Order: sequence, then C-alpha cells, then structure tokens
Amino acid sequence: YRDLRVALLGCGSVGAQTARLILEHGDELAARIGARLTLAGIAVRDVDAKRDVELPRELFTTDAERLVQGADIVIELMGGIEPAKSLILKALEGGADVVTANKALIAAHGPELADAAEQVGAQLSYEAAVAAAIPILRPLRESLAGDQITRVLGIVNGSTNYILDRMDRFGDSAEDAARVASELGFLEADPTLDVEGYDAAQKATILASIAFHTEVPVETVHREGITAITAEQIEAARSAGFVIKLLAIAERITSSDGVEGVSARVYPALIRRDHPLAAVHEGKNAVFVEAEAAGELMFYGAGAGGSETASAVLGDLVSAARRHIAGGPGIPGSLHAELPVLPVGEVTTAY
Ligand code: NDP
Repeated sequence: YRDLRVALLGCGSVGAQTARLILEHGDELAARIGARLTLAGIAVRDVDAKRDVELPRELFTTDAERLVQGADIVIELMGGIEPAKSLILKALEGGADVVTANKALIAAHGPELADAAEQVGAQLSYEAAVAAAIPILRPLRESLAGDQITRVLGIVNGSTNYILDRMDRFGDSAEDAARVASELGFLEADPTLDVEGYDAAQKATILASIAFHTEVPVETVHREGITAITAEQIEAARSAGFVIKLLAIAERITSSDGVEGVSARVYPALIRRDHPLAAVHEGKNAVFVEAEAAGELMFYGAGAGGSETASAVLGDLVSAARRHIAGGPGIPGSLHAELPVLPVGEVTTAY
C-alpha cells in the first residue's frame, strides 16, 4: 500500500479516540482505502498530560505548524478559532485534505475555508461538527444533492434536550433538571453556549448552508435558548398534546412580500407527541429532513462523546484518503447562493 501521512491536531476527548481508532484498525482502514494511514504526529499543548488513551510518547509534539507541513491529511480537533483556522489554511495551502469537528470555526468561517479548499482542489470535511456521530452533512450534501430540501428540524444540543426531557418526563423544575444535567456531565462549567442556544445556532448555520446551498451567516440565525421555559409551560404543552424541544430549524420560506428564501432559527418549539422528534429523549440528537422527492427522513443518534464523535471524524478521514489517492478535486464545498437569507424570528407553528 501507499502511505498517507496523517497529522492530528489535538488529543482531548475526540482526538484521543481518533488516534486510537486509526492505530487499532490500521489494517481494515488500509484495505478500505487502498492506502495505509500513518499517524505522523499529534500536536497538543502539554506533551506530558495524561490522555484518555495510552499512545506512543514519540507521537506527541507542541509544534503544530511543523506537523502540518508535509501531511497528506490534517485532522483538526483542538477546537476554538485560533490557531485552528491558521493551521487549517496552512494545511490546505500545502495540498493536504482537512477534516475537522470544529463547529465554532465552521459556523464562523466555513465559507472562507471551503473557498480556500476549493482553490487548491482539496477536500474540507466536518461531518462531526453537527450532531457528532450522526451522519447528516454528507447525506445533505451528497445523497440528497439531487433533491429539493424544504425543511430541516434538528435536536442538535444534547444538554438542553436532556434538561427539557427531564422536565417533561419527570416533572422536574428547570433548576432541578439543570442540576442533574450538570452532575451527569451534560453541561459545561459555563452552560451559556448550550442553554442560550448559541451552540444550536452554530449548527443551524451549518445545516442551513449545506441544505440550501447558500451562505447563511450565524448572525442571521434567530436564537432563543431554554432559560425562560418553566415547568408550567411544559405541563401546558403536554396537556395540549405537545412536547417542547429546542429546535434548530432551517427552512425554505416565502416572505410576506413574496420573496423566496432561507430562514434559520433556534427556539424552544412545540412538537406534536406523535412526531418522531418527540421520541428523542435524554441527551440524544436527531435531525428530521423534509425534501420534495424523498419525503420525510430522520437521522438519530449520539450528538456527543469521544468515540462517537471520532466515528464521524474517521468517516471523513477515509473519504479524504480515498480522494487523496484517486486525485481530482474534492467535493465542492463552496456555496452558490441559490436563495437569499430571510431573517425571521420565532414562527408560531407547531411541528
Ligand atoms: P478537548 O478540549 O478535550 O481537547 C482539545 C485538544 O486540543 C487537547 O488535546 C489540547 O491539548 C489541544 N489543543 C488546544 N489548543 C491547542 C493549541 N493551541 N495548540 C496545540 N494543541 C491544542 O476538546 P474535544 O476533544 O472535546 O473537542 C475537539 C473538537 O471537537 C472541538 O472543536 C469540539 O467542538 C468538537 N466536538 C466535540 C464533541 C465532544 O463530544 N467532545 C462533539 C462534537 C464536536 P492539551 O491536551 O495538551 O491541553
């Protein structure tokens, strides 16, 4: 087999599991790709930190820039905007394909990075950035590329789903549900990103952009979190036959003056008890897609976790490796502005 050099940036929850899977399943991956993946190194801040997985000491480096040079594929799992963004641009300039799980970076700079990849014919993929283990971006970008998507409804934040689910099923107050979620590790030390809907808005941007082939800046996403939801509201929804879920919604809409466009929004929405999304409990994620020809589809699974997220990263890695040896450009990730973005607030529909 030909060797492909893989540079891994970051070795936290997701990075350590990604390294493990690459090392443990080297033979299977080589057979599936037609090339062997060689883990060239792992960039971290502290080479002596204790890791979730035991990995060869000599793989670790603090020199991410050097590691990126000469790599065929770069996997970015550091998180944050910088230095992740500069390292990805450097990797693309050097002819590497790039895989990342960095939702914050893709939500803020996805179009710029996609253009950079397209200019050099490289592939930039980020399946893990939305709903972790659930394959949703590739189905939207590839399997459904010939269809016309009309609406995407996502439960894409596990922490808030956990809180609302406890309130609905156990009658918890908002405070009690948040406390349990926090104790079980579902909430970050600073839960704002989750409970105020920022995390879901990042994912709404990515879903809307891919589903509608149009750049949907995160600033245009209407965002409401779950902090104002009370036990009484949950109970009122229940007696009317609904459940309240924090939804990331991307939808083709027609404005009051007849303009057709895309709307992306996040808010606690009413869902009919018999809708498949109502059965998404605890910290699970799901994305419900409505398309003109395909009809209704639902994608369900784990929206977080080290090995769960690493599964999506590995899928992108195999796809990038296959493309790398076949040559030819990556699947174009740039957006062709098919529809204008129409910022609208909460739409009082129940789903
Ligand atoms: P962690 O915080 O667990 O790990 C981050 C890793 O990156 C650490 O190994 C850290 O090094 C390294 N790192 C951070 N900054 C630098 C830097 N400046 N230079 C070198 N190394 C650096 O993050 P996760 O694994 O949880 O997440 C990684 C990415 O995956 C994020 O973008 C996240 O949003 C995304 N993601 C995570 C999911 C999850 O369930 N965890 C789900 C879906 C996406 P050191 O260890 O030495 O400090």
